[in-house]
Amino acid sequence: MFVEMPDDQFNTRVADQRVGYFSQRVTDLSTYDNYPQRDLINKWRLIKKDPEAELSEPVNPIVFWVEKSTPEEIKPMVVKGIEAWNLAFERAGFKNAIVAKIQPDDADWDAGDIQYNVVRWSSSPRPAFSGYGPSIGNPRTGELIAADIVQEFNAIKRGYNYRKLWGWTPENDPLEQWIISLTIHEVGHTIGLRHNFSASYLHGPREVHDKNITGNTTISSIMDYDPINIAPPGLKQGNYFPTEPGEYDRWAVEFAYKPNLTDEERSELLALSVLPAYRYGTDGDAMGTPGRI
Ligand SMILES: [Zn+2]
Repeated sequence: MFVEMPDDQFNTRVADQRVGYFSQRVTDLSTYDNYPQRDLINKWRLIKKDPEAELSEPVNPIVFWVEKSTPEEIKPMVVKGIEAWNLAFERAGFKNAIVAKIQPDDADWDAGDIQYNVVRWSSSPRPAFSGYGPSIGNPRTGELIAADIVQEFNAIKRGYNYRKLWGWTPENDPLEQWIISLTIHEVGHTIGLRHNFSASYLHGPREVHDKNITGNTTISSIMDYDPINIAPPGLKQGNYFPTEPGEYDRWAVEFAYKPNLTDEERSELLALSVLPAYRYGTDGDAMGTPGRI
């Protein structure tokens, strides 16, 4: 299967070390500049239907399909996880930027078809991850062309074990929150975001169980590897997992996806990076900490 190269009308965005995106390095071979390289953010082509509107639907939304093999009880959780990213895209001026659809049981296309972005499931004998979300970007521009997500059946079993261990109600269900959180994380990779392992600095151990403070999150970025959030004895249980992108994620999406970002807007956004909610550290930072291997 071949995919046609996109046209050259894509608006690139130069990456910055303070905001965690996968990127493509391009080199201007004809410049006298001593730094001829630019890292271009990996992102989807989103164009406002109404360019004048502060909030507009895109001409073409990002579409993710939920594989038909997904257990019935899990399907709505995956849909919520995919569409939760709309909260972040609204910050960038887009309404309904990402749409979830369920693959019909009688679909005549395969979930492996590169023309469809699909949240798929695998049952591996020794799963190393709960999921992963690779994507294909245009090496010349960073434009994302295709993505697929594979999540492990083991993660679903883990969610049912959380229910057994910690109990659940329809209002506070660790299985639902875990699957939503996992899906938001993996979709986050496919819209370009890298890990952010600094996200749990946001709240203290008491505040993290106060929903008046946390809202539907627990940490500043869904791109962390947060374990289940269990209240110590004597404290009312808050959210087990975040079910929305965090403040850092929304800021990062605005940085990459807001159309026609001016230099001034770019500087103002980047200036926020010193605040705790926008703290960022990725794989290299986490794995390279002294005392850890
Ligand atoms: Zn990840």
